[in-house]
Amino acid sequence: MKDHNFLDTIMEFEQQLESMQQQFVALKQYVAHMMEEHQTIQTENLHLRTRLEELLSNEHVVSHEEKKDSTLDIGEGYDNLARLYHEGFHVCHVHFGSSRKGEDCLFCLSFLNKQNV
Ligand SMILES: [Zn+2]
Repeated sequence: MKDHNFLDTIMEFEQQLESMQQQFVALKQYVAHMMEEHQTIQTENLHLRTRLEELLSNEHVVSHEEKKDSTLDIGEGYDNLARLYHEGFHVCHVHFGSSRKGEDCLFCLSFLNKQNV
């Protein structure tokens, strides 16, 4: 009877270890996923900061030129957005600024088409 209890305890312990190992694997996958996402967001953030600085310094130049031609401004704005899109980022309202992950986006494309007309 005592031996039987002992064996039960061992087997129970083994099951607990297995369950803990499974939880550990899941946790490890979760951390890896979070780190990947963190990296993506940092890259996007850096890219957007650089872009924003560029856009702000362009705006500065434009205001110094006292906006000779308003159609020129629209053209530049469109170019910037089109460039951003071609660099792999969303310019649509739905996902603005996030990575397209190499896929075309219909929202972006129709947005850019509207801007171009
Ligand atoms: Zn988009």
